[in-house]
This record gives sequence, C-alpha cells and structure tokens, in this order.
Amino acid sequence: MLNGAALLLALGFRRNRAVLVLAVLTLAALALADSGLSADATRGADAARMFAPWLLLVAAVLPERGFLARRNVALLVALALSGWLTVAASDGLWPHLRAGLPFGLLPWNAGSVAAGLTFAAALACLLRWVLGGAPMEAGLGIVLGLAGFSMLPGVGSDGTSRTLALAGACALFAVLYASYRMAFVDALSGLPNRRALDETLARLTGDYALAMVDVDHFKQFNDTHGHDAGDRVLQAVAAELRRERRASSFRYGGEEFCLLFTGARSREAVRMCDQTRRNVEAMRVRIRSAPAKPRGGQAVKRREDIAVNVTVSIGVALRDAQMRMASDVLKAADQALYQAKSRGRNRVVAR
Ligand code: GH3
Ligand code: MG
Ligand code: MG
Repeated sequence: MLNGAALLLALGFRRNRAVLVLAVLTLAALALADSGLSADATRGADAARMFAPWLLLVAAVLPERGFLARRNVALLVALALSGWLTVAASDGLWPHLRAGLPFGLLPWNAGSVAAGLTFAAALACLLRWVLGGAPMEAGLGIVLGLAGFSMLPGVGSDGTSRTLALAGACALFAVLYASYRMAFVDALSGLPNRRALDETLARLTGDYALAMVDVDHFKQFNDTHGHDAGDRVLQAVAAELRRERRASSFRYGGEEFCLLFTGARSREAVRMCDQTRRNVEAMRVRIRSAPAKPRGGQAVKRREDIAVNVTVSIGVALRDAQMRMASDVLKAADQALYQAKSRGRNRVVAR
C-alpha cells in the first residue's frame, strides 16, 4: 500500500523513473505477499525475485524522459508481461519458463543474484545523486537498497514484507520531499524561491527588514560571457548571500535575490547589506567565457577560463507600524533598489 501510494504521488508529480521503479516494486511486493497466485505457493516469491531485479536495474539506469517515451513503454510492457506470466502460466509451464527464459540462465532462485542486481540498481541511483545532486535519486537508492535486502536469501517472508513496507515508506517520503523541493527551492542556486519567501512573509509577525538584491548589468554580462557563465555567477552570488548567517536568503527570480532580517537584526540590515555588497564585489568567480554572439562581425572568440567579478545593488525596506503589509514592504524595497540603480549601482539604499 505504501509503495502504491508513493507510486500515485510520483505519477502526479511526473517523476517518471520513480514511477517505473515504484510500479515494479509495488507489483513485486504484491507477488511476494500473495502466495495464492496459483497452486504453487512459492510462485509469487519466485516471480518477484526472477523478474523484478532486472526491471529495477533497467529503470534505475534509464534517463528521465516523458512518461510515454519508447524506453519507458518497453519497460512497462515487460512488467505487464512478467505479471501476466506469473498469474496465467499453467503450473506445468511455469518450471519450463523458469528454466527457459533468459532469467533462468542465472541461478536467480538463489536470491543472492536477485539481491545483487537490485543493489546494483541502488548503486546506479546513488551515483546519479552524487553526480547530479537530485534528492529523489538518493531516495530511490535507499528504497532499492532496502528492496535488495528484502530479496537476500535467508530473509524470511516476514522480514521481506517488513523491509518492503519500510521501502514503501521511504519512497513516499522521498517523493514528498522531492516535490517539496521542486515547489519551494530554486534549482540553480539551491536557495528557497519566491513562493517560499511569500509563505515566510505571510507567517512573520513583528518587525523585519527586507532587502532586494539585484546583480548589476547582468544582461550585458550574459552577452559578453554567455548564459552558462551567467548561471555560474548567479550560483556564486547565491553562495555569498547564504554566507550571511544573520539573514535568510531567497532567489526572488532571474538575477534578483532577497535577504530577510527578522527581529532585532532588522535594525542592522543596512550595515549587513553593505557588508554583503562589498563581499560580492570582492568575489572572483572562475568561469569559462563563451560569448553569446560575435560582436561587430568579429570571429567568435575561443572559450577561455577567466576570473570575473560582478557587483550588486541593494534596496532595503523596514516593516514597521507605518508599513504593515508584506506586499508594501516588497514594493518599498523595490523602489529603494531602483534608486540604488539610478544613483550609479553597486550601493545600498534604504527607504
Ligand atoms: P541592471 O543593472 O539595471 O539590473 O541591469 P541588468 O542587465 O542586470 O537588468 P535586466 O533586467 O535588463 O537584465 C537581467 C538579465 O538577467 C536578463 C536575463 O538574461 C538575465 N537572467 C535572468 N535570469 C537568469 C538566469 O537564470 N541565468 C542567467 N545566466 N541569466 C539570467
Ligand atoms: Mg533585475
Ligand atoms: Mg540586474
């Protein structure tokens, strides 16, 4: 049930590889739980160990694609076929199937091969997590690790169903956590996004200071060094803002960030913002410059590794007795930012 619930959520959030993994796991858990699939009481357990590990391994290494991508459909067809064979093959045919199918070439029924393949699938997901940082991959790695454990020889049927239930709970948590991150965390910078800021402001009571931080001449930066270099710089600016422990930082959108100072710190906001501004100015970011477009008909320059720096302008507004609404504070911070821009940029203006 837990696996099934995680599967439905993954479907809703279009986590297609997670859907495939969880579909296989849900059917495997059903097969393991149901010994009444045929007169042969061990058929469900046999089938789960025979089919599921291969399908899990393929699902783990597949690229994340649209749900109806050819590879995904092929895997679902293989899953449906495995399920159909498990239920429909006659008791006379089943032993021949076991021996004749490619799966039969390996001593799959030893359990250790099934577990080994599933552990390999888990490793593939963990590797993707290490390389790509997507938390869903870490979740799938843990889920598959537990599934592999449940298939080990010597783990009794009680142990197997308990481990699979735990895997289902982990899958549910992983899908929920990945969806939470998708909704509230900006993928490029890793900072909470504008929606998270809106929710934080709606919950806040008391005074606070809000600073709008905007990278100066960033369009020009992109044109000169390329969009990838721009992304790299935005990540560096985000990391610098995050370093300011006395404020919460958010990516408001594009090349705009917010710093939120609550309580007594709000009175120090301008000074701390100026420190942040100077830190950004002093920052050197190594980029691979690749100009977006050749200028004045010149040949496109070769990519080159260089260190660059950017500056930011900051507008600060305080929430107090005169200005209670978060939307008004945001507007005031934006106006202060506009002034910082028109006074020459790379400065902090308070309103
Ligand atoms: P100003 O000093 O007045 O703020 O000038 P600006 O060029 O920074 O401001 P403008 O609003 O004209 O341009 C913002 C640029 O930020 C345009 C857009 O291409 C770039 N930008 C927004 N989001 C991203 C992003 O995620 N990555 C990259 N590389 N660039 C982005
Ligand atoms: Mg801007
Ligand atoms: Mg800008």
